[in-house]
Amino acid sequence: MQITGDMLIGGRAVRGTEKPLTAFNPATGEAIPAPAFGSGTAADVDAACKLAAAAFDAYRTLPLDERAEFLERIADGIAALGDALTERAHAETGLPKARLEGERGRTVGQLKLFAQEVRQGLWLTPTLDSALPDRKPLPRAELRLQKVALGPVAVFGASNFPLAFSVAGGDTAAALAAGCPVVVKAHGAHLGTSEMVGRVIQQAVKDMGLPEGVFSLIVGAGRSVGEALVAHPAIKAVGFTGSRAGGTALMRIAANRPEPIPVYAEMSSINPVFLLPGALGSRSAAIAQGFVDSLVLGAGQFCTNPGLAIGIEGPALDEFAQAAAQALGVKPAQTMLTAGIHAAYEEGARRLGDTVGVSALAQGQPASGPNQAFAALFVTDAKTFLAQPTLEDEVFGPASTLVRCKDEAELLAVAEHFAGQLTATIQMDRDDVPTAMRLVPILERKAGRLLVNGFPTGVEVAHAMVHGGPFPATSDSRATSVGTSAMERFLRPVCYQDFPAELLPQALADGNPLGLWRRKDGEFVKG
Ligand code: NAP
Repeated sequence: MQITGDMLIGGRAVRGTEKPLTAFNPATGEAIPAPAFGSGTAADVDAACKLAAAAFDAYRTLPLDERAEFLERIADGIAALGDALTERAHAETGLPKARLEGERGRTVGQLKLFAQEVRQGLWLTPTLDSALPDRKPLPRAELRLQKVALGPVAVFGASNFPLAFSVAGGDTAAALAAGCPVVVKAHGAHLGTSEMVGRVIQQAVKDMGLPEGVFSLIVGAGRSVGEALVAHPAIKAVGFTGSRAGGTALMRIAANRPEPIPVYAEMSSINPVFLLPGALGSRSAAIAQGFVDSLVLGAGQFCTNPGLAIGIEGPALDEFAQAAAQALGVKPAQTMLTAGIHAAYEEGARRLGDTVGVSALAQGQPASGPNQAFAALFVTDAKTFLAQPTLEDEVFGPASTLVRCKDEAELLAVAEHFAGQLTATIQMDRDDVPTAMRLVPILERKAGRLLVNGFPTGVEVAHAMVHGGPFPATSDSRATSVGTSAMERFLRPVCYQDFPAELLPQALADGNPLGLWRRKDGEFVKG
């Protein structure tokens, strides 16, 4: 597939007339040869959003099988791009090819899982309450409920998942599955990869005979395109993964519109790992190795990267610290996604090291090329951690801090101190159950996913996954951005009261023509 540097607005390829953007290879620090990518204008955003609005009714009422087939075609089209896609993504992101092949598998698998979900129809939550004409003192009307799509969704591609959380990634798949047209703002860190995937979606729209506005891909230099997209009246929800500053800026724009809309922003999390004494007593070296491996995975550029370990002082914690220092010391430096992300990491790691009461425990192998991050482990005590709010800031990259607590009470105080997190992990043995029983109720208030004896990186795409959590981990703790429940962000309930049969949607029709599981007078039935 030839990359042209065009935006994809509905069925057209459109050359952006604003400042051209160049793709960069972070591993070499050099520009990738032409084409340059023309940035869009507010007029381009307007064109894409108006097409999305025009496509909405036809797309959301498509038979479920056809909507599912559309998602499967996108999945097959991405798989068919073969090595050309992973090679381009490798050149643009510096991520290893094996990682990108895995990520492509996840992207394809996630689209297919959403296709299954669309067909199954549970997300419609069809609910029927019979009329009660003889109820006293007042009769009850007949009520039927189903969920409907919200409307066109703006998706901001994430820098750290060029495939699985970008143009055809989790947010796009969930929105399309829910029946929402999508306008994607490509992330500037992988513009060629974005165009390749965007062209697959554009082709699938055409092949299925869908209205062209079901999908558009916009390129933007500076903030104006993203701001115009979130402010556009046709857009009814936003999916975003990135910085806290970016996510909160978009939340403000969305809240200040004449019609405010939800922003589902996944922003910053430091994913604490609690090292309970029994577990450290029996396997401190193994836990240290697992922790360091999770910390440096993908140069630490995961939202679930373990940025903090917390333990109670004693010989077992000393052994953990020593083993973690050894494991980290041999880890090679790795290329980060962009020069900006690399600079922000170096600054964050320097800030951690310069904090009074924090000292360096270990450093990985030094950088040997441009934009390479060395791993870093710091240590502090609970008193310092509790007194210094900046120690809770996300440092995006392979840096983490070990917090030493005097006793269990201090460890629980550290847990209580946290702001919202995507994950919280407990390393524990049977002896640790009483402490864990005191810790879990605190962590349930803080995080979207609680793990025992694992490490937080590696987010399964499944029905029971929650990739979310209270602010600042996300902008809305009621939602997940990974897994099939992610569709719920782009749906809303509608109740049909005393509707004649001819006007009822099929999911709620008498005789259950779609064969769905439905809630009828409180009972779940397939009838
Ligand atoms: P970012 O700076 O937040 O940018 C993400 C996307 O949002 C880009 O398309 C960007 O557009 C747009 N954007 C940001 N601020 C905006 C604003 N005020 N108005 C309109 N659009 C805006 O994130 P990034 O480029 O991926 O990485 C920067 C930092 O984000 C990292 O160093 C890291 O700290 C954090 N990050 C965190 C996670 C996580 O999962 N926790 C993931 C990725 C990044 P432009 O590129 O045109 O500015």
